[in-house]
Amino acid sequence: MRIAFIGLGIMGLPMAGNLVRAGHDVVGYNRGAARRASLAEAGGTAAGSIAEAVRGAEVIVTMLPDSPDVTSVVLGEDGVLASAGGGALLIDMSTIAPATARTVAERATEAGLRPLDAPVSGGERGAIDGTLSIMVGGERADVEAARPLLEVLGATVVHVGPAGSGQTVKAANQLIVAGTIELVAEALTFLDAHGVESGPAVEVLAGGLAGSAVLDRKAAGMLAREFAPGFRIDLHHKDLGIVVDSARAAGVVIPLGAVVAQLMAAARAQGDGDLDHSALLLGVQRLSGR
Ligand code: NAD
Repeated sequence: MRIAFIGLGIMGLPMAGNLVRAGHDVVGYNRGAARRASLAEAGGTAAGSIAEAVRGAEVIVTMLPDSPDVTSVVLGEDGVLASAGGGALLIDMSTIAPATARTVAERATEAGLRPLDAPVSGGERGAIDGTLSIMVGGERADVEAARPLLEVLGATVVHVGPAGSGQTVKAANQLIVAGTIELVAEALTFLDAHGVESGPAVEVLAGGLAGSAVLDRKAAGMLAREFAPGFRIDLHHKDLGIVVDSARAAGVVIPLGAVVAQLMAAARAQGDGDLDHSALLLGVQRLSGR
């Protein structure tokens, strides 16, 4: 298929590369020439504008940082809707506010496109390996039309409801991940303060009820003090804003989520915004005077 891919960052570039390897004709656009050149090296085609990427595409994928980015790229002057052909699937895989996803879907539908919100979990590793977990909101027929492509990118592809639902599930995902990282960071600091050797402790914890994907994938980096992203604290701060706002809108109280949102904001304020979210560990250490 002819696919436009807009947003070739940490996640978007390897995802676009997987679509190329699956035999698709991928035309990519990102701000700045370097990321576009990387797509061309991976066998895709670099476009000089959104319009150039989107023209003639049967499927348009966006993988951008935040709600305002998706709004401007899709709805803005010279954006996707201005150039896309009728009937194209518009799959936004960014993590954005559910309300924005619903607005984008309404406008895209009016313009004759078939919109899906399909945020992902699984991190850079999952993007590279094509093993992402993809939560999809939209019309069932459109989800089924997109499924062969989504299954190139992910190992778990689930239709969770109408437009915006994918983003609501992703917000729940981000609540669980942030809370779990914070607890793992606190446990590692606690173990270290007691002089317990961390490697064996993590091994046995991972085998019991305390085990988690966060412990499996993040603890080793935390112990080695390696915080290259991965998933940046700035982005998780953005996501916890979505979580807190959406909980408030639904009248749901999330006390631990609110605390973790504050701790993520503190990490950012301390200058850790460009580090991996596992650098919540640094915050725990600062609080503990270690
Ligand atoms: P990123 O910042 O690495 O990539 C975003 C890319 O979009 C950048 O290359 C940026 O230059 C480009 N961009 C921004 N505005 C643009 C515009 N107007 N036109 C063209 N290009 C533009 O971010 P990422 O880590 O790839 O994350 C993308 C999305 O996926 C975010 O919403 C994030 O929350 C979500 N996500 C990330 C991860 C992860 O582990 N990194 C995991 C799951 C979900």
